[in-house]
Amino acid sequence: MCGVFGVRAPGRDVARLSYFGLYALQHRGQESAGIAVSENGRLTAVRDLGLVPQVFDERTLSGLRGEYAIGHTRYSTTGGNAWENAQPLLHRGRKRLVALGHNGNLVNAEALRELVGKPLASTSDSEVIAALIADDERPLEQAIVATMAQLEGAATVVGLADGKMFAFRDSFGFRPLVIGRLGDDPVVASESCALDLVGATFEREVRPGELVLVDDDGLHSIQAVDQEKNGALCIFEFFYLARPDTRLAGVEVHGARVRMGERLAAESPVEADLVLPIPDSGTPAAIGFARATGIPFSEGLIKNRYVGRTFIQPEQGMREQGIRMKFNPLAEVAGKRLVVVDDSIVRGSTTRQIVQMLFDAGAAEVHVRVSSPPVISPCYYGIDLASEDEMIAAHSTVEEVRVAIGATSLAYISLEGLQAATHRPASALCRACLTREYPTRVPADAAKLRFEPV
Ligand code: SF4
Repeated sequence: MCGVFGVRAPGRDVARLSYFGLYALQHRGQESAGIAVSENGRLTAVRDLGLVPQVFDERTLSGLRGEYAIGHTRYSTTGGNAWENAQPLLHRGRKRLVALGHNGNLVNAEALRELVGKPLASTSDSEVIAALIADDERPLEQAIVATMAQLEGAATVVGLADGKMFAFRDSFGFRPLVIGRLGDDPVVASESCALDLVGATFEREVRPGELVLVDDDGLHSIQAVDQEKNGALCIFEFFYLARPDTRLAGVEVHGARVRMGERLAAESPVEADLVLPIPDSGTPAAIGFARATGIPFSEGLIKNRYVGRTFIQPEQGMREQGIRMKFNPLAEVAGKRLVVVDDSIVRGSTTRQIVQMLFDAGAAEVHVRVSSPPVISPCYYGIDLASEDEMIAAHSTVEEVRVAIGATSLAYISLEGLQAATHRPASALCRACLTREYPTRVPADAAKLRFEPV
């Protein structure tokens, strides 16, 4: 889970544009943020741990000048949450200096590290991509094409080198990437919501396997590697990760999530007094559930939107407050039969605490409805879901999960129902964490910290 952004706009404040682009992509990663600029071919980067507004202020932004900028927000999937792993990273190779931001996870990072054959500054899998491009003696376009051909797994990338900007998606297109225009100036971003925020108009999606190069002559693109079948856009983007106002493959995410809720209501109806979401990602599906059943929608759980990933540990006595740091129920849940709609259950611990909190607040019944099928297998393509052993549904029946979370009833949407709600064919989506059918080979060792020094 990361967000990437890139822009070429000579004469404009490209760092500031990137800052606001990253703001719109903050939901894709809250561990670190960074911006790199290219001014007459010279690269400068600022990156640090924290949220976008924690990393940048007026002073740092005004020091970042150039014609091009790229930005990155990070949620770690390979490599720990350390400064060295913040992006855009800079890598000086035999041929060139490369600034690079990566969303996704490679499944052959180990082999590529050996191929690069030198120590790297970071423990993430992203620096190998930068190193391959930076060490290649050929012109930039050929160097990137040759690098793309060696990548296996998920790689949505933006970069700067040789006074140019580049952006590409792996041959499956696991993670999204769109092109927009700010006037005539090209913009690339993980999600269309970032284009909206900076005032750019949506042009099109980058195709799986496509390389986009932006230089002084404008934007041109080539199909650098063949697209794999219909691609494999991550279905998790539809029900959880992407922002609801984003359009994925032409489908607005909010609408897809409302349809998931409607379908869930048709598949697993229940008599109840109120439908409430686990905010925010459960909200559209709860709206759909309420709309389809006529059961009133309630914001019964209030979320503290300012509790992000804090580096400050709660005081010891606050620990048992646990989930109340994030959610607090309204008094209206007392005595009611509730339908609680969430987008997914992975470990189950949050759901269990919320169910308990609602019963403590006086709920008569708590029926949990989930707008994704059971998550049963890890993701190797850029979402840090958990290991299979930690997944509550991996080796349990629905009834066993219900008992574990303490709900009155529990139902998940069917895979077919979820699929239909996306308006995308099954052949165009990755659904491996729900089916165990991976589109690529799976790495033997996918531990997140495998490149950390021991
Ligand atoms: S395994 Fe799951 S989370 Fe990972 S890319 Fe595939 S659908 Fe998305």
